[in-house]
Amino acid sequence: MDKGNNCDFDIISLYKELGIRKQVLDFGRKIEAGLEGRFAAIDKTAEYNQLKVIHAMQKCQVGEGCFHYASGYGYNDVGRDTLEEVYASVFHTESALVRPQITCGTHALALALSANLRPGDELLSPVGRPYDTLEEVIGIRPSKGSLAEYGVSYSQVELLEDGTFDYDGIRKAIHDNTKLVTIQRSKGYQTRPSFSVGQIGELISFVKEIKPDLICMVDNCYGEFVETIEPSDVGADLVVGSLIKNPGGGLAPIGGYIAGRKDLIEACGYRLTSPGLGKEVGASLGVMQSFYQGLFLAPTVTASALKSAVFAANIYEKLGFPVVPNGSEGRHDIIQAVTFGKPEGVIAFCKGIQAAAPVDSFVTPIPWAMPGYDSDVIMAAGAFVQGSSIELSADGPIKPPYAVYFQGGLTWPHGRLGILMSLEYLVRESVVVL
Ligand SMILES: *Cc1c(COP(=O)(O)O)cnc(C)c1O
Repeated sequence: MDKGNNCDFDIISLYKELGIRKQVLDFGRKIEAGLEGRFAAIDKTAEYNQLKVIHAMQKCQVGEGCFHYASGYGYNDVGRDTLEEVYASVFHTESALVRPQITCGTHALALALSANLRPGDELLSPVGRPYDTLEEVIGIRPSKGSLAEYGVSYSQVELLEDGTFDYDGIRKAIHDNTKLVTIQRSKGYQTRPSFSVGQIGELISFVKEIKPDLICMVDNCYGEFVETIEPSDVGADLVVGSLIKNPGGGLAPIGGYIAGRKDLIEACGYRLTSPGLGKEVGASLGVMQSFYQGLFLAPTVTASALKSAVFAANIYEKLGFPVVPNGSEGRHDIIQAVTFGKPEGVIAFCKGIQAAAPVDSFVTPIPWAMPGYDSDVIMAAGAFVQGSSIELSADGPIKPPYAVYFQGGLTWPHGRLGILMSLEYLVRESVVVL
């Protein structure tokens, strides 16, 4: 028998061996058949972004020497300095800071803020409440070392009922001492919509018309490479994100980036290391190859995560569960929310995602009282890099409306398997009847 001709037969038997019943696979395949157009558009964006990244790497003359190990002070760390040029080139900015010493996205954001705000300055969020972890950075929730402790005040303008910007409110909230405007691109784990780069550009133009010297910073987490342009293409002075999300491509084991105006990035360098030393120090300790190769893969990895999200939205929408974004709307980040309305749904979904993982698939996730949350939370992650959320992962607080948030998928075949497995577990637990 020619095995090649029976590839689909083999695929079906492997799904079965992995634990997925025929009805689940058939249901998934029917949904997937309707997504060709969506997937083609995602691939087009990935094609553009792949070319953009390669073009930047060629222009900056990335060479084999960029992957060498640098230790100690890290003076003349060519790999590090060239990578920062590559990021600046990809984001079309004057400069960038891309370091393993930036420990996570929150750290990168805290760094960009504290480097560019001084006592007496005001920080403004015109898009409502920022990401949870920033509340302590800003001092919305009191914390040691917050911006509030250093005399930086904060004001916030809520979004309008329909999720759009409250331009009147924003105009009134810009004062003489307003120095920096922070705009979060992704909804994160809120129910508001995520913003397109175009919408962010309109907001930036609006605030700069009122006060031209305002610094506009965009929290770009989960948004990189979802579109062909980035917030820095529409006037953002700083864009900030985590390397264990989209731009690390699943390979970066740690890190964060800040790309933007030269003077603002210089201030970030001084804040990260020390006044006077700045970007000159900070050895890259052998992680450079993963940073470069991760960035190289990031456009297609992001595309895989997007396909997984679109697939999940359409599967669960078809089954009658509320999904945000819905099955047909455009995407501005890689996060997908599904509301199950009961704890069993959230738990079964997360069990399925875990069971489909390449790592720790034998572990059963259970809800627990995670520090900082007001309800039990369940998390599914079988990741190569701990906590990496560009890898297929899901989590949900065990409280009404019993919604699960999931994101990632380094490859589309894995994303597809994860979603099918989540459905398999929902069927097993009788939350869903096919
Ligand atoms: C993930 C995220 C952060 C924080 O990043 P960490 O790496 O988890 O510290 C900030 N803002 C948004 C919108 C995020 O999605």
